[in-house]
Amino acid sequence: MRRTLASFSAIALAAALWAGAASPAQATAPRGVWPLSGAVVREFDPPDQPWLAGHRGLDLAGHVGDIVTAAAAGVVSFAGPVAGRPVISISHGSLVTTYEPVTAFVAVGQTVTAGAPIGRLEAGHCLPEACLHWGLKDGPENYLDPRSLLPSQAVRLLPVEAVARLREEQALWEQSHKSAGLIRPLAEAVITSPFGYRTNPITGSSELHDGTDFGAACGTPIRAAAAGIITQQYDGGGYGNRVFVDHGSADGSQFVTSYNHLSAFALSVGATVAQGDVIGYVGTTGLSTGCHLHFMVWANGALVDPMTQLP
Ligand SMILES: [Zn+2]
Ligand SMILES: [Zn+2]
Repeated sequence: MRRTLASFSAIALAAALWAGAASPAQATAPRGVWPLSGAVVREFDPPDQPWLAGHRGLDLAGHVGDIVTAAAAGVVSFAGPVAGRPVISISHGSLVTTYEPVTAFVAVGQTVTAGAPIGRLEAGHCLPEACLHWGLKDGPENYLDPRSLLPSQAVRLLPVEAVARLREEQALWEQSHKSAGLIRPLAEAVITSPFGYRTNPITGSSELHDGTDFGAACGTPIRAAAAGIITQQYDGGGYGNRVFVDHGSADGSQFVTSYNHLSAFALSVGATVAQGDVIGYVGTTGLSTGCHLHFMVWANGALVDPMTQLP
């Protein structure tokens, strides 16, 4: 009986050691959140030597009285004035986060979760507006970038300044990729059947002809109506061989074009095309009575008459 218990204890001890070995790894990578939602107004810029000037944290814009939250789960290790300025420190295993100037709600020894309110922002670090100086260190004078606590894919947690910068970049990208309007995919071709309701010659019922037909000899090169990316190309049954090109945003509208009844494709899915690039060749695949291009246009997801978009 004693032997059995002793064996059991040995297993329990091994399990405890194993758990103990695993925990420091977790402690070095706590899951972090921004302690204040304001923009980053001053970046982390550590000094080359501890006695030199630098910025040992991130400054986040705020207002006096804003609630500051814990950047990660931990235990409050300090709450009080340092050189006349209210400071909170939270210990997360080997790491410590600091928050100043913040008047604490929490007491030393208190356990906090990530995002838990810990105090109110005071004036004094940024002028004329208040800001939070958020620090991270793994030793008395070893400061780290507090951003390293945040998940790299934390898009929702981006400070407003970063969001504004991303929107600006997006607008610039859209401006530079803006089409000068769609061009005809077959410059010389004549329209043999317009977009719109027509009587089906076989069934006799009225149906929507969902594109514009351009007559041209089989093998005639078809050109992309605008710059974009080939998103799909396949045998579309009645549409025959078809290619879809996504043009992104132009003049506030999202355009997609499609080219049908092709005899052959010129490129592959994922290819980037400039306006006028050859993307395929006229054919008569699918439900078609002769060589022609059935050209389709979607504006913001809605099918439109291609001729409303073409010169
Ligand atoms: Zn600062
Ligand atoms: Zn057609």
